[in-house]
Amino acid sequence: MPLVQEVPSEIRSLTRFVPLLGEAAVEDARNLARRLQERLAGAVVWNVNSTAVGGGVAEMLHSLLGYARGAGLDVRWLTIGGPPEFFHLTKRLHHALHGGRGDGSPLGEAEHHVYASNLCKNAVELRGLVRRGDVVLLHDPQTAGLAPSLLAAGARVLWRCHIGADDVNADVELGWRFLERYLDGVPILIFSRERYVPDRYRDGRVVIIQPSIDAFSAKNVELDEDTVRSILVHVGLVEGPPPPSPRESFLRSDNTPGRVERFADVIRLGRASAWETPLVVQVSRWDPLKDMAGVLRGFSLMVQNHALPEADLVLAGPNVRAVADDPEGPAVFEDVYRAFREQPAAIRARIHLAMLPTADVEENAVIVNALQRHAAVVVQKSLHEGFGLTVTEAMWKGRPVVASAVGGIQDQIEDGVSGVLLPDPGDDEAFADALHRILADPALADHLGAAARARVRDRFLGVRHLVQYGEIIGRMLA
Ligand code: UDP
Repeated sequence: MPLVQEVPSEIRSLTRFVPLLGEAAVEDARNLARRLQERLAGAVVWNVNSTAVGGGVAEMLHSLLGYARGAGLDVRWLTIGGPPEFFHLTKRLHHALHGGRGDGSPLGEAEHHVYASNLCKNAVELRGLVRRGDVVLLHDPQTAGLAPSLLAAGARVLWRCHIGADDVNADVELGWRFLERYLDGVPILIFSRERYVPDRYRDGRVVIIQPSIDAFSAKNVELDEDTVRSILVHVGLVEGPPPPSPRESFLRSDNTPGRVERFADVIRLGRASAWETPLVVQVSRWDPLKDMAGVLRGFSLMVQNHALPEADLVLAGPNVRAVADDPEGPAVFEDVYRAFREQPAAIRARIHLAMLPTADVEENAVIVNALQRHAAVVVQKSLHEGFGLTVTEAMWKGRPVVASAVGGIQDQIEDGVSGVLLPDPGDDEAFADALHRILADPALADHLGAAARARVRDRFLGVRHLVQYGEIIGRMLA
């Protein structure tokens, strides 16, 4: 079986964005695409990464490729392959560029051999597909080592790094030193935030592009209140009868109806909340850096410090027994469960730990969508975050968000305007106070939520992302 696989992509129309962005903005994007397609003169724009499913990069590629193709551009997507030792090494590189959590093993010449020899095999296959003059957008450390071979074949190569660390430490430096020799000749490097750019690349070839969400995916598509309630009651997150006019279906992103009554149950610890009870929600992988246990402790403090208002907490993540690629999940869930058990019974009754079904990606996404829409406050108390997609997702739904001032979240939320930033993610008291302030002040909540939605519309939707890509590729062709 070949290592390189083409990922099929649906065609999506930019017309969907007209009600959100206006006719003029969408027409500008279409015109840019038209001009670009003419200038490409038959050349293809390839995206290359290492997986078609799972994770924010794959999610963004599915959506952006669809819209780019809908605008008439010949954009395609390839994934590379390799043996477990290659992916073990690239996972280490990933952790290193994020600023740590390495296992202390070296990144020396033996590792270069594992990395380069696998990418050499992939490059041979790629060179059968990519022609001279084609544009190749490589994503993340897994693909950086393809650049020299593709450049030698006459392709126009860009590399995009979706990860980064606010502060350089020895691990970060080790990771960049490893990649240096592969990236030397690449004319354009794309980062998600200014602060993630290593000093060695501050030489005019860097472009900043912030990640975006798809307003029309199952995760973010508009759901009316009856649909939200039908979903949450059906999966057992909310108690009580379904709404007076229950909804059985929602539209999947391929425009076929998904059936709510076929949804798998959520695995839940704690009783379900009443529909009327305001919810504080964090949706995350069960990862130590997401600090689910800290959210739980902060919520408990809020309940102890302030008798009112009534609120429940839902901590939701994937089913740890079903997710194969997250070895830390079960242990982190155990820690959160321990923190849950330590709470007094009256507080425990207001906390719900939920493991969402993962077998069907769209079903999982729709449950997250409903939960975020139903939340009175969405929180993201991460200790570290490249760019918190959950933050943008909640902001798009007009929810007030309380989040740590770490990584990309600092670019996503303007403190006090489109959400609340916590300067010290470890300060559970400050977190409890911020939660209480919003729960006790519905006008403030509405205000923050409305500003959040406007900010996402202006900065974090796919059209802006595509226009930035279009402009860069246009520059490369000049
Ligand atoms: N997510 C999900 N189901 C879950 C937990 C997370 O769909 O049970 C999604 C979440 O909605 C978001 C993504 O996974 O789209 C996580 O992205 P983020 O940037 O917030 O964090 P990461 O997991 O990439 O560190």
